[in-house]
Amino acid sequence: VTAFKGKSVAVFGLGGSGFVTAQALVAGGARVNVWDDNEHAREKARAAGLRIENLAAADWSVFEALILSPGVPLTHPAPHWTVIKAKEAGIEVIGDIELFCRERRKIAPGAPFVAITGTNGKSTTTALVAHLFSSFGFSVEIGGNIGTPILALAPPDKSRVHVIECSSYQIDLAPSLDPSVGILLNVTPDHLDRHGTMENYAAIKARLVAGADHAVIGVDDEFTRAIAARLREAGREITLVSAAGQKFDEGIIYEGGRLFRREGGRSDLIADLAGVASLRGAHNGQNAAVAIAALGALGRDHARVAAGLASFPGLAHRLEEVGRLGKVLFVNDSKATNADAAEKALLSFDEIFWILGGRAKQGGIEPLRPLFGRIVKAYLIGEASEAFAQTISGAFPVEFCETLENAVPKAAEDARASALESPVVLLSPACASFDQFPDFEKRGDRFRALAKALMDKP
Ligand code: ADP
Repeated sequence: VTAFKGKSVAVFGLGGSGFVTAQALVAGGARVNVWDDNEHAREKARAAGLRIENLAAADWSVFEALILSPGVPLTHPAPHWTVIKAKEAGIEVIGDIELFCRERRKIAPGAPFVAITGTNGKSTTTALVAHLFSSFGFSVEIGGNIGTPILALAPPDKSRVHVIECSSYQIDLAPSLDPSVGILLNVTPDHLDRHGTMENYAAIKARLVAGADHAVIGVDDEFTRAIAARLREAGREITLVSAAGQKFDEGIIYEGGRLFRREGGRSDLIADLAGVASLRGAHNGQNAAVAIAALGALGRDHARVAAGLASFPGLAHRLEEVGRLGKVLFVNDSKATNADAAEKALLSFDEIFWILGGRAKQGGIEPLRPLFGRIVKAYLIGEASEAFAQTISGAFPVEFCETLENAVPKAAEDARASALESPVVLLSPACASFDQFPDFEKRGDRFRALAKALMDKP
C-alpha cells in the first residue's frame, strides 16, 4: 500500500494483521517502525526485517500516522497510551482496512468491495456473499475479521470482488470506509465493554453503511431501523431486509423458510431454504437475505441464486452437521459461546440431546428457559456444570460428564436408544471454551472427532 510512500509511520501490534500491514507499508515505500509488547512477536518481526522501536520511548513528531492492529484487544492498556501519544503528536490513528480503502481509491476506484458488519452473523454472511459471487463466476477475495488480513489479499481490482468482514473496532479505525456495498445485519447489545454506550456502538456500525455506494440493512431491530431511516432521508441508495415480519415495499424478506423479493408491493419467490442444512433457522434467513441483496442486479437471476444458496457448505462450528449414526444427527455449534447464540441452535431442532457448559457468561442459560421443552436430556461439561444444573433443576434430566470425551458417547447412546424419530446430539455450549480448550475451534474439532469415531465404529 502506497498511502505513506516516503513517509514515516508507527505500527503497534504485530499479530497476524499488524505484521502483514507493516510489511505492506514497507513494500509501498513507507518508513515503518513497529512495536508489540510481546517479545516473541517482536522477534518474528525482526527476523522478517522490520524495524523495531519501543514506541513508548519514541519521538512521535516524525510519524505521519499510527497504524493500530485490530488484533490488539482494547482491554490491553497499550492502545490507549499509543493513541494518546498519537493525539498529542496530532497524527491520525487508522487500521488496515483504511489503508485498503485509500489504495482502492488510488489504483482501482469503483472496484467491487463488499463490507459486512453486525453484532451477529458476520462470518456466515461474509462466507455466503463470497460463495454467491463465486457461483456467478466471479473471482473473490475474502478476509478481514473472518481470517486473512485484508492487506494479505490480492489488491483491489475491477476484475475481482473483495468480501470483507469488519468488526466495530476495524470500522472505528477506518474513517474513510467506502465500500461499493455495505451490509449491516443487526445491532444488539454486545461488546459494550469496548464501545461504551449502545448509541456509540450503533454509531460505529452505522458508519459502514453510511459510507457505502449501496447500503443493505437488516431492519429487525430498533437501532438498524433508525440507521436505515436516516440514510433514506438523506436520499441514499438502500435495500431493506427483514426476517422478522418488518413491512416494506422494496427489499428482501425471509418468511416461512422462504426468501422473497418485495417490489412495487409484490412478493416474488427467490428460494426455499427448507432443504438447505447450512442455512437452518431464521437467523440464517436474515444472513441469506442480505447476501442476496448484496448481489445487486445479479441477484435477479433467482434460479441461480437458489442454486448458489443450496450449494453453500456453511461454516464449521456454526450448526455444522457432522454426520449421522443411524437416526442420530450430530451437530457442532461450538461457536455458540453465549446464550444468545445457543438460542438459535435450540430453535433449529427439537428432540435435542444437549451438550453444554464450559466457562459461563453472565446470565448463564436462564434466557433459554422458554426453549427447555425441546430438550430431552443435557450433558454438562466444564466449570459451569453446577450452575447450569441448578438453572435446569428438573426441567429435564441432566448428567454430569465433565468432559466432551464422556459426554459425546453418552449422548449418542441415549439418543440411539430413545424412541424418538430424529434425535440430535447438539454441542451448543452457551459458554466460552477457555476452561478446557484454547478456543471454540479446538472444542468443535474435538466434538467432531469424537462423533466421527462413533460413526466409524463397525
Ligand atoms: P459473527 O461473525 O458475527 O460472530 P457468525 O456468523 O460466526 O457471526 O455466527 C455466530 C453465531 O451467531 C451463530 O452460531 C448463530 O448462533 C448466531 N447468528 C448467526 N447469524 C445470526 C443473525 N443473523 N442474527 C442473530 N444471530 C446470528
